[in-house]
Amino acid sequence: MGSMDNLTANTPMNWFNRILKPKIKVGSNRATPPPEGLWIKCEPCGQTLFHKELERNLHVCPHCRHHFRLSGFARIDITLDPEGRKELFANLQPADPLKFKDLKRYRDRIRDAQKETGVQDAVRVFKGTIQEVPAVVTAFDFSFLGGSMGSVAGAKVAMGAMAAVDAGCGYVVFSASGGARMQEGILSLMQMARTSTALTRLDDAGLPFVSVLTDPTTGGVTASFAMLGDVILAEPHALICFAGPRVIEQTMRETLPEGFQRSEYLLEHGFVDRICPRDEMREQLADLLTRLTRSRGGREGRSNQNEETKPVAFPV
Ligand SMILES: [Zn+2]
Repeated sequence: MGSMDNLTANTPMNWFNRILKPKIKVGSNRATPPPEGLWIKCEPCGQTLFHKELERNLHVCPHCRHHFRLSGFARIDITLDPEGRKELFANLQPADPLKFKDLKRYRDRIRDAQKETGVQDAVRVFKGTIQEVPAVVTAFDFSFLGGSMGSVAGAKVAMGAMAAVDAGCGYVVFSASGGARMQEGILSLMQMARTSTALTRLDDAGLPFVSVLTDPTTGGVTASFAMLGDVILAEPHALICFAGPRVIEQTMRETLPEGFQRSEYLLEHGFVDRICPRDEMREQLADLLTRLTRSRGGREGRSNQNEETKPVAFPV
């Protein structure tokens, strides 16, 4: 009865205050959410990381070694030597030949993605050096329409290969893609042949192609040039597949094994040559390009056995 008396003795405002959420002290580190952009949470380990520190660490979590996704330019930036790098084919603009529309017009999707990311399309190509070894490097940007390969992305991957042939150097492509760009229909699927064809030119010239698979590399990109590397590297724990795990589980009605379609699983099953952490990538690429160019003897060292199967020129 006594406690009941206490309750009834409370004024209505006291009762109201009791059910309010506890007050948060202003300035308390725990309660104040970190300012956006300054701090970033590492999802796999739950640690909050200072953005600048993460940047210095090549966007790899110092606690659990999780490799964060990179934009195309950030990738180029940490790969090529700062001196003498030059962007190629920067002015190529995606078109909308099919006048495609789903929930939104394709033209609007492109415009929004360009505004959001500040780039023209999902792929950037640069010429430069990696630890003083000349190379053409192409990088996908997953944040631009899922890194999907439309006509521009396909053209750039192919033209990057041709630029490497012209310069007599090796070619490196960092893939991060959801696959073909559905809004371009068959024109998108044609990029699989286009990119693969361009790589045969590189092969004919005796120059190496190193494919680097990063999280995620899927669909038409996995089904074409990304798996045609003389050497195929992958970043740790990257998703690499044609169809994603959810699609396979729904089709097969089976639960997939732990780690299925991740870099480590692919290495174990012979689809990938080496898993290369980001902080070893530059050294690894410089070493591979030097060794492969020398071992294959460059242009002069190749026999003419592929002369008849030389690909026809493709339109740009
Ligand atoms: Zn972490």
